[in-house]
Amino acid sequence: MNIPFFRYPHVFEHHREIIEKALISVSAKGAYILQSELQTFEDRIAEYCGAEYAIGVGNGTDGLEMIVQAVGLGPGDEVLLPSHTFIASASPIVTHGAVPVLVEIADDHLMDPEDIEHRITSRTRAIMPIQLNGRTADMDRIIEIAEKQDLILIEDSAQGLGSRYRGKMAGTFGVAGIYSFYPAKTLGCLGDGGVIVTDDDDLARIFRQLRDHGRDESTGEVVRWGRNSRLDNLQAAVLLAKLDLHVEEIEIRRNLARRYHQNLKNLSQLLLPPPPEDGDNPVHFDVYQNYEIEAEDRDTLGDYIKERGVGTLVQWGGKGIHQYPALGIKASLPGTEEMLRKALMLPMNSSLTGQEVDYICEQVIAFYSI
Ligand SMILES: *Cc1c(COP(=O)(O)O)cnc(C)c1O
Repeated sequence: MNIPFFRYPHVFEHHREIIEKALISVSAKGAYILQSELQTFEDRIAEYCGAEYAIGVGNGTDGLEMIVQAVGLGPGDEVLLPSHTFIASASPIVTHGAVPVLVEIADDHLMDPEDIEHRITSRTRAIMPIQLNGRTADMDRIIEIAEKQDLILIEDSAQGLGSRYRGKMAGTFGVAGIYSFYPAKTLGCLGDGGVIVTDDDDLARIFRQLRDHGRDESTGEVVRWGRNSRLDNLQAAVLLAKLDLHVEEIEIRRNLARRYHQNLKNLSQLLLPPPPEDGDNPVHFDVYQNYEIEAEDRDTLGDYIKERGVGTLVQWGGKGIHQYPALGIKASLPGTEEMLRKALMLPMNSSLTGQEVDYICEQVIAFYSI
């Protein structure tokens, strides 16, 4: 068997017909920038997430950067976020002169509410949970702390489209949130893409201006400094075509996660992600963007199953954002560091079959039987 960690061609091949149709139709019309497919896609994403507004942007990182700007975070302001995330969660904070302050993670690899309050100072202005691996953090506790401490809540839901906590979508808990359409995300486009969601009229208007050179949508007049970060209409058309299948693809991922859990739960050497919760009203509805396990000997385990044709990935090279010496972020995070030493992602995507998951699990079990 040969099971790569991710099958990039599948992003196109799996939906070839509807994608080709969308690309040809948009190209033939010459409808490239800020056209009806983008508008329709924004309406559909807003509806899917239960947000008032969705604003398509060039990528998720730009979206976060525009949120940081629009809510007025600046020099000296501290923003709380976990260290187990992509550097793209922190760079938008630094771009505007604000300071990332790092918080420990809990067993599910998400921001640990128990550690938040210790990190709050007189300069703390905002809190940014990362809805990592397709799971939503314990938002009840996080919102409680944000309200008590008067903090702005921003969500990095780049990996969280479709994920819910007590029935509410990741990305819709704070003043604004983002999703990324990077090809390997649960809803991937053919390049870079992202969207901001918000319920706030003023913020939505500002995001539309910021992404389009500071121009006001109705008058075309430049009303502020902006940038160029629009979601391409071609990408919007592709995403619109794929959006209908997103719920189905999440079900595939949840079934694969159930299968991993069933197969591996008796291995005491592994810490597995929480399995999908059944029933109509789960606390966590996870979409399994990733399947990230912990193993004491993750490097030798990864090598062993690689020799047997299974690709794995250590997310972001196994480093938290306080572990890039060039960036100079200092933090004491022993729990996060221990987890980062052990974390390993097994293949998880909608091209994977149940038989492939069984094969992967057999190799993992074999590793622990030698
Ligand atoms: C993918 C990702 C981003 C960045 O999204 P892009 O669209 O690639 O800019 C930000 N945060 C997290 C946690 C991500 O996984």
